[in-house]
Amino acid sequence: MAVGCGREPQLLSDIQQIQAIDDHAHPVCPPATVPGDRDFDALPVDNLEPESDPVLLRPSNPNLPLAWKALFNYAGSDMGKMKQAREAVRKAQGHQYSVWVLDQAHIESMLGNRVAFCDGIAPPSFLWVPYVDALLFPLNNANVAGDNSDRKVYVPLEDRLRQRYLKQLGMTQPPATLKEYLQRVVTPTLEAQQKGGAVAEKFEIAYLRKFDFGDPATADAEAVYTKWIGAAAPPQAEYKVLQDYLFRYIALECGRLGMAVHLHTMAGAGGYFDVAGVNPLLLEPVLNDPRMRKTKFVFVHGGWPYTREAGALLEKPNVYLDYSSQALSFAPATLAFTLREWLERNPEKVMYGTDAYPSSDLMGWEESLWMANKTAREALAMALEGMVRDHEVTREQALRLAHMVLHDNAKGLYGL
Ligand SMILES: [Zn+2]
Repeated sequence: MAVGCGREPQLLSDIQQIQAIDDHAHPVCPPATVPGDRDFDALPVDNLEPESDPVLLRPSNPNLPLAWKALFNYAGSDMGKMKQAREAVRKAQGHQYSVWVLDQAHIESMLGNRVAFCDGIAPPSFLWVPYVDALLFPLNNANVAGDNSDRKVYVPLEDRLRQRYLKQLGMTQPPATLKEYLQRVVTPTLEAQQKGGAVAEKFEIAYLRKFDFGDPATADAEAVYTKWIGAAAPPQAEYKVLQDYLFRYIALECGRLGMAVHLHTMAGAGGYFDVAGVNPLLLEPVLNDPRMRKTKFVFVHGGWPYTREAGALLEKPNVYLDYSSQALSFAPATLAFTLREWLERNPEKVMYGTDAYPSSDLMGWEESLWMANKTAREALAMALEGMVRDHEVTREQALRLAHMVLHDNAKGLYGL
């Protein structure tokens, strides 16, 4: 019931109880299972030159001690003792630890964006989203980074991941022709990942190049591949033709295999990140390609700072978004403004997400999950409260929208 000035005190507590599907996060394997796990990201962002961290990602975030208290029942300021308390909970929960972490945030299942799953991070609580960028770069990649210091860190990681994919197929190097590369490497890798439980494929391509994918003819892509495979590094403009072709091929294959395409769409991380290159409007020719209407594209992180551009693209039947990561970098009121605009237009395309990530020794994926979940639900409640107050929706409709954003939209999209 509405009370006083129209606030809906019950809405937030109802929203906090909804069992959610987290559209995007990076769960870390329990140390007892995989010590020093690095598969939580194909391109971990912890070895870059210094950048100016957003305020809420710094250790001064007042929600961080609340997370320690809620998760590990530790309320002091001695970080040594906090880690002991965390270790004690990890030990007590054993192999159930990761699922226990989800329970603390009322998360029923999480799309785990990882190179591979492990004991403790597995279905049905965790659904796999592997990485596919490495397949866009089968040539000599010495020119890909240019003078971008962040990319100099990323490119060797992609080279290593592609070797890992080739090894899984019993190969040591890509075949001589593009046709063989597609038939013997790209498609089999996607098919194996889909059989392995993948519900989507993740592109972190925004870290490596702009979203300006053209639509080259097969013959042009073949010519680049044949000329440069196993040879010196191609000029960037020539390489782009092949990458563009492979991007569309993979997106089409994902549509055929029933996997969504996840795209990192947000500024950062990294002090050399190409912010202009991550504008989702650059993807419009791909989204409007009639062949792509069977492929579902998800703008992971909702496109910030291009949240309105991302929102405008939701009218396309093949576009969805989540607000993961924004729930870590913005306060509820700031995020509520963005959410409300999306919910007023295409609420069945908007999904909850956290981007839980092991940022530091003090802010592991568990703490970041707890904090993002808190903000994400508070922001959603604020957006919906405003819509109720302004008579856009009834309270019942607001609660229905909350269920859609937190759970039902993802359930439908991935056919869970
Ligand atoms: Zn992420």
